[in-house]
Amino acid sequence: MPVYTRRGLGAAVLSLALLAGCANLTSSPLGPGAGAPSTAAPVSPSAPTSDPWTPSPEPSATRPPRAASAPTRPPGPTIKPRPTPSPSKTTSPKPTPMPDPEPNQRTKPEPEPKSTPKSQPKSPTKSESKARSEPKSKAEPSRGKRVVYLTFDDGPSRFTQQVLDILNRYQAKATFFVLGANVVDNPSLVRAAARDGMSIQNHSWDHPDLSSRSNDEIRSQIRRTDNAIRNAGGGNSTCVRPPYGATNARVRAVLGDMDKRQLLWTIDTLDWERPGASAIYRRAVEEVGRGSIVLAHDGGGVRTQTVAALPRILENLKDRGYRFGTLCQ
Ligand SMILES: [Zn+2]
Repeated sequence: MPVYTRRGLGAAVLSLALLAGCANLTSSPLGPGAGAPSTAAPVSPSAPTSDPWTPSPEPSATRPPRAASAPTRPPGPTIKPRPTPSPSKTTSPKPTPMPDPEPNQRTKPEPEPKSTPKSQPKSPTKSESKARSEPKSKAEPSRGKRVVYLTFDDGPSRFTQQVLDILNRYQAKATFFVLGANVVDNPSLVRAAARDGMSIQNHSWDHPDLSSRSNDEIRSQIRRTDNAIRNAGGGNSTCVRPPYGATNARVRAVLGDMDKRQLLWTIDTLDWERPGASAIYRRAVEEVGRGSIVLAHDGGGVRTQTVAALPRILENLKDRGYRFGTLCQ
């Protein structure tokens, strides 16, 4: 089975993102009011990140060194082209209104010549490589207000309660994109999160690359997870974050048919690489602007660094006047 190279896929996704005008990657804005996609926080396309899941079973030999910054175009014919997103949306020129008051808005997360993460537990088969890179757009529902959306993926896990405790201490809310398989193992954490006012959303059953699955498999991944969330007391989820950010027109269409909104992110802390709490903190706060959606993980590996960084992140953002909102509720 073909393995995408991280950089190849990152570049491919980037190209697609450019083609699609970025914002289209997130096909469904939060709502009608979400008109102006926040392309302003272009998560560097050069951050071909992959999920914490990716690193696992693949012999490291197959894993190319992490591309610090992805070239803007696919390195060649070796790339397995992903199903292309509809070219139809190519052009909408995006206004880039998101007024970001922060001076330090960088376009690029530090290029880190990271070697390779190695945190992974159960990652299914996923071959490494799935890159996600997109500037996922999302126009914030609350424009004009200083709201930031913290999101935590791949849980619930043994770190989830710590994350909840910290969020509660700061009276902050967040959105958790959970895996159905983890939900059935930790239903009480889902219930606790919901009780704390967190938004519980769908990240698939066991973290496959949805873009390589059949429509039926995609539906099954989403439905089973929805049921698990509901049975655990997490309510009805309305959004899906495709694992690895791997999506395409077909995935979006299947999700759309299920009345699901696809939700990606705008700032990637790359916490799964375990770069140290300070690095996670910096990545989380440096590029933040109104409506930013920050990606971090409460599952999928050892998350002590994420937990350690969280209080500082919350303090920093709070000091700057941000509130912490939930998505998809
Ligand atoms: Zn994930």
